Amino acid sequence: MPPVTDTQRAALVDAFGRVATDLRISLTDKCSLRCTYCMPAEGLAWLRKSELLTDDEIVRLAGLFVSLGVTSIRLTGGEPLLHPTVPAVVARLAALRPRPELSLTTNGIGLVHMSGELVRAGLDRVNVSVDTLDPERFRELTRRARLPDVLAGVAAAAAAGLHPVKINAVLVRGSNLGEAPALLGWALRHGYEMRFIEHMPLDAQHAWTRDTMVTADEMLAVLGDYLLRPIGHGADGSAPAEEFEVLDGPGTAEWAVRPGRLGVIASVTRPFCRECDRLRLTADGQLRTCLFARTETDLRGPLRDGADDDDLARLIRLAVAGKQAGHGIDAADFVQPDRPMSAIGG
Ligand code: SAM
Repeated sequence: MPPVTDTQRAALVDAFGRVATDLRISLTDKCSLRCTYCMPAEGLAWLRKSELLTDDEIVRLAGLFVSLGVTSIRLTGGEPLLHPTVPAVVARLAALRPRPELSLTTNGIGLVHMSGELVRAGLDRVNVSVDTLDPERFRELTRRARLPDVLAGVAAAAAAGLHPVKINAVLVRGSNLGEAPALLGWALRHGYEMRFIEHMPLDAQHAWTRDTMVTADEMLAVLGDYLLRPIGHGADGSAPAEEFEVLDGPGTAEWAVRPGRLGVIASVTRPFCRECDRLRLTADGQLRTCLFARTETDLRGPLRDGADDDDLARLIRLAVAGKQAGHGIDAADFVQPDRPMSAIGG
């Protein structure tokens, strides 16, 4: 690999002084589930293979981001485990220097078979989406009867040494909201970290409304039987989840042997844009500086046209410099981005 030049070395700082250190890479826009709050039953118009970054392109861009100060990379999608060579991608990312922390967000289907290989390749952590523990509700919410595969995947990830296993659940009124205490209890008993997520205006159907979404206040109210101590947004204050230590609650005797953690990701009602250190690279090579951005920077085109690393670094810097102050969901003129969450990389 050629030596890192000075243009590349300095940190990625935006106009508001935020430094980008966290990169989410979407490996595919396709998914094996059809969560009702995410996409329609028939799926979406998927990207063509020729539009997707190749593994070499992903690794080259990731290496450039690392040289520009990115210290953690999360693989996501769509469903990243549908990418045919995901362990090889992880291994190549783990070989970057300085080595980034490597994590993956997945629906869990596939973890039974792949957890060991992913750990050997260098994966550090995993987030698994489990919106419900009820098989029938899972089928309704995801339109697929795959709960046993997901739960087996979560167990396999923990057994393979991926730690901490974080569990994501989007809470939906009239569906899984009332199940939140049971989900937290299950996570505590198994030593997983539960994270409840506010539904964001990123659904492909554009059906999101502020009135129907479950707010962080409601989530915490539903969890009223638990004694929670707020501990902030991670060690450096930039984590999307507002974290809580679970001090007491139903079934304490079963889980109190280890300290329990809970996270609430309240992007809508408790935005954390001022501390945002995240960038996103879509599966077709577009750089997004905000989940809700309406503009993207094409990196794939210049890459395929022969741009060198300095050219690409300039494009990345320019994009970061123009990162918007906040997501603007509260603004009267807020318009939902064209790309849904599944095509951005959640
Ligand atoms: N397929 C993987 C998974 O299921 O985790 C990774 C991609 S998925 C888009 C990442 C996370 O985004 C999941 O936890 C999912 O529940 C969540 N999600 C999807 N659409 C969302 C929305 N409109 N608002 C909030 N979270 C959403």
